[in-house]
Amino acid sequence: MDKFYIGGIDIGGTKIAAAVAGPDGPMIRLVQPTAKTGKARALPEQTVSLLEAACERAGITKDALKAVGVSSCGPFATVDGLLNLATPNICGGRTPDSDLPNDWVVIPLEQVLREHFEHVVIENDCVAALIAERTYGALQDVADCAYVTWSTGIGFALCVDGHVLRGKHGNAGHAGHMLMSESDPAKCGCGNVGDVEALCSGRHLGKRLNMSASDLLNAAHAGDKAALEEVRRAAQWFGRALYNLTATLDTRCFAIGGTVWMYHGDLLLPIVRHEIESRLPALTEGVSIVRAALGRLAPDIGSLCLVSPPEWQQHWRQTSPWQKLM
Ligand SMILES: [Zn+2]
Repeated sequence: MDKFYIGGIDIGGTKIAAAVAGPDGPMIRLVQPTAKTGKARALPEQTVSLLEAACERAGITKDALKAVGVSSCGPFATVDGLLNLATPNICGGRTPDSDLPNDWVVIPLEQVLREHFEHVVIENDCVAALIAERTYGALQDVADCAYVTWSTGIGFALCVDGHVLRGKHGNAGHAGHMLMSESDPAKCGCGNVGDVEALCSGRHLGKRLNMSASDLLNAAHAGDKAALEEVRRAAQWFGRALYNLTATLDTRCFAIGGTVWMYHGDLLLPIVRHEIESRLPALTEGVSIVRAALGRLAPDIGSLCLVSPPEWQQHWRQTSPWQKLM
């Protein structure tokens, strides 16, 4: 049989990445800043060009790609049965006071990709990361689990009875926008006041003390009282979000990634754990919190997982070939 190849695209608010992989693993990964000017097609066309460039560097043609997996920040909007991006961080037309250099309301992601590739699978980036962690990482053999990223933003992906939840537009898991506080004026980029992301994401952490999130977390590590109190509040809100999901979905294990957790998990974990374990033991007993195993590459590995054949996955599980991209 002829060798065949697959492509993986990861779309974020600040950068996009394109990877090409063969049976033995990812061969190349290229990164560019996310296009935010021109027509709404500009971004998907940029992903196609970047994937073409990755093919060239890997010594193959674009036509050798039998399938392309895409992991993208959401939310999505379905228009005529095709997935469009409706992301406030990229689409300037979605919020009246946006400072983005475009007036895009939706981006025709699936339509443009289908003009170039026969087989395309698109998932939310947290869903792709969840699938990667379930295939190769910290959530193997756990049927009731969630992937959570605590970074600039806060994202979730949820799995119940072994089924990854997707919802009517593929937006299941946007629990970062669950409303939590009536009294806290923290405002999220989505427009909500007092939602999980506004209360504890890296974008907002430290605002009250006029500090960046990393300065705040470092000050807390060093024992600064005001910083510690601020971090405790954020971790409490985050823990309550995990409790709410446990109560709703009967989750067994949360794998948490993202820069805030990656660097400060030791400080945050006891507070988060207490928020879960101090409530309703019948629901919360035995719930575990683990560190996501695939790090910042989880969405990229996830995009490849969406379209890689099972026999490749078996092979990759033994060889961890993505490590050369780390
Ligand atoms: Zn929000």
